[in-house]
Amino acid sequence: MINKMVRYIYINNLILNIYDMLPTIQFPLDIKNVINYLPNCRYMSYQDFARINNCSINDVIQLCESKSGCTHYDIKQNRYLILCNQSTQNNNNIGRQRWTCGHEIGHVVCNHHAISAYEKLSENSLLQINNAEYEMEADYFAATILAPFPLFKLLNIKSAIDVQNIFGLSTEASFYRYKQYIKGLGTRIKTSWDNDIIRLYKQKNI
Ligand SMILES: [Zn+2]
Repeated sequence: MINKMVRYIYINNLILNIYDMLPTIQFPLDIKNVINYLPNCRYMSYQDFARINNCSINDVIQLCESKSGCTHYDIKQNRYLILCNQSTQNNNNIGRQRWTCGHEIGHVVCNHHAISAYEKLSENSLLQINNAEYEMEADYFAATILAPFPLFKLLNIKSAIDVQNIFGLSTEASFYRYKQYIKGLGTRIKTSWDNDIIRLYKQKNI
């Protein structure tokens, strides 16, 4: 029931457009590099942000209200700064960092910040997005851009370990992603989107 609210097709097409923009597509996807192709978005690590602003990592965590990542949205300029914690402490492994970055990009390309800013007419530029729907959309975006189902067969994905090795997700995320894949195997219909993803991957996996 809740899933009805996630704009799957819309998000699928956003991902197709991003794959189309990328000069090469290789997995694990260099998700930070994707940000370079978004005209109004930049990336900075918590570590660089702390150094530049002469504050501690804990200050950045408090500012972001997150240990893993957040996005600063400048309403007037319509510009985004994605901040991610690049420390691998506290189980924040590379797979999790990859997911966080994908999740934050999802919020940006789905326009969640702009929509909630408009709705709240908020002066606060560090918007905390609490809307459960938006969180689900950002997670769907992250899962799909990092580990797209249309490529599972082509890449010979046959276990959660394969998901982890090929797409570079965390152990937990790989397990969940593979479970979802198996669950959908009988019912998923191959669409033109699937074919487009496969075509772009074959073209750009140089
Ligand atoms: Zn989020």
